[in-house]
Formats: sequence, C-alpha cells, structure tokens
Amino acid sequence: MPELPEVETIRLGLNKIVTGKVIKRVIIYWPKTFNYPTKYIQEKLSKSRLLSLNRRGKLLIIELSNKYYLLIHLKMTGQIIYKDQKIRFGAGHPNDSFMSKMPDKTTRVEILFEDGSRIYFNDQRKFGWIKLLNRTEYANFSFLNNLGPEPLSKEFNLEQLKGRINIRPNSMIKAVLLDQKIIAGLGNIYVDESLWMAKIHPKTLVKNISKSKLKKLYESIVSILNFSIMQGGASDRNYLDVNGQKGSFTKFAQVYKRKDQPCTRCGHKIIKIRVAGRGTHICPDCQKLIFRA
Ligand SMILES: [Zn+2]
Repeated sequence: MPELPEVETIRLGLNKIVTGKVIKRVIIYWPKTFNYPTKYIQEKLSKSRLLSLNRRGKLLIIELSNKYYLLIHLKMTGQIIYKDQKIRFGAGHPNDSFMSKMPDKTTRVEILFEDGSRIYFNDQRKFGWIKLLNRTEYANFSFLNNLGPEPLSKEFNLEQLKGRINIRPNSMIKAVLLDQKIIAGLGNIYVDESLWMAKIHPKTLVKNISKSKLKKLYESIVSILNFSIMQGGASDRNYLDVNGQKGSFTKFAQVYKRKDQPCTRCGHKIIKIRVAGRGTHICPDCQKLIFRA
C-alpha cells in the first residue's frame, strides 16, 4: 500500500538517475494499465525525454519533452524498479520482485531508455494505473484538481488541517484523513500511526476532537511522513544489488501490523478493529473513544 512517503521515495530516487533520459521503447504487458491503446502510448512515448519528476499526493507525475505528462498511481501493490548495469533501485510496494529477475510475472510495463537502462512498473494486484495526458487533459484532470493540500507543503499548518477536516465535522477522523480530497497522500498505515501518536481513537468524530489533540495530530502527521521519507529516501536502502535487502518501510510502525504486541507507550496489547471499511490498528488504552455533546 504505497502512500505519500513511498511515492516520494520513488521520486527522490529516480530524480537523480532518470531525469534527462530519452525513451527508446515501451513494452506493455498489461494494456489496461494505460488510458489509451498500446500503439498510441508507444508512439507518443518513444523519443520523448524525461524533463522532471514530481509528486502530488500519492501520484507520481513525469513531465515529458513532447508536452505530455505521465501520471503513475501505484494503488495497492504498485512498485517501480530501475535497473542499469551498475545499480538497481526499487521502491513502492515491498515484495520479492524487488530482487527477482526483471521482467517477472507482476511486470505490467517496461520502459527502455536509449542508454540501455530500464524502468519496470510492477503491480501484483493490477489496480495501479498510468495515464498519458496532453497539456489540456492534464489541466482538466479532475482527480488531480480535486486533491486536498500536501501535508508536507509550507502552507500546511494547524489552521489548514483544522479547516480541511472540518469540511466533514460529523465523520470519523480516520475516514476524513483517508479522504484524498481533504488531505492528499495519507493512507491506512500513516493514518493509523498518526492517530496512535496523537492518542486519538480513529472513530472519534471530527467535531469532538479537542484543540490540544488536534495540535498533536498535526505534529504527528508531519513528523511521521518526514521520518518515513528519511528512512526510504535519504538512506540508500532502496538501492539493491543481487544480495540486497528489500525496503522495510513498516519498521518504524508502532501499531500497523502489530496486533497482540505490546503498545510501546503503555504496554497494552495492540488490537485490530474495523473503521471506515479498513483494518485498523489501535492501542485501546492510549486511544479512548471520546464523545462530547
Ligand atoms: Zn498504549
């Protein structure tokens, strides 16, 4: 489940190595990945140069020299692997494909550059998508235009968080934080971790969260995202060789996938409940459900 930090790790990693490269050929193993027929995609992409890599929420945006944009959404199990003769870089959903011979059975798209290096878009579950958009399509792409603010931008402060979540005052905080139109980039893992850190029960209604808890929530979101990007992006653990290790992006987790293990703050057992249709990890002692009139 790649979220903002995993996509940012891909962006930071690829930025250094693929910016400026020219695409020679695109091999499409799973045509449904794209928004247009294979032939159109191949025609538009070949000979185009990668100008810049950007990110918006969980979306990776590649600007091309032919005035088109390549938008990549990893969804549940998407991952990107870069390979040349010297290095191999992988990020996104962590599984054995990080190390296996490319392409493998999860490979949906392969981009070959003129210098012989390659990028693989792998996606076990096939929910991920790539869109090739021209400038007009890009400017009118509602998915992008509807995204909420970036939680790591300078503009994102406590007041903005308050304003955004109060668009849905009667909803449970977890559902609201998962809503990409409210804030962009957070998913199941980082929402659970942030709520644990701020000691807020995920079912708490937005209007019932106290000022001080909200401040703590703001700080938690920002610090957890930054910490996670530092883990993936700043170190070179995502650069793999044949003996390399796969990324361990949940090592920092205090509640995520820690069911029945002791809370690192109070020692109570972490439990798994269901909130907003999602498996949710909480400490029942640290995160009490608060009702207020
Ligand atoms: Zn606890």
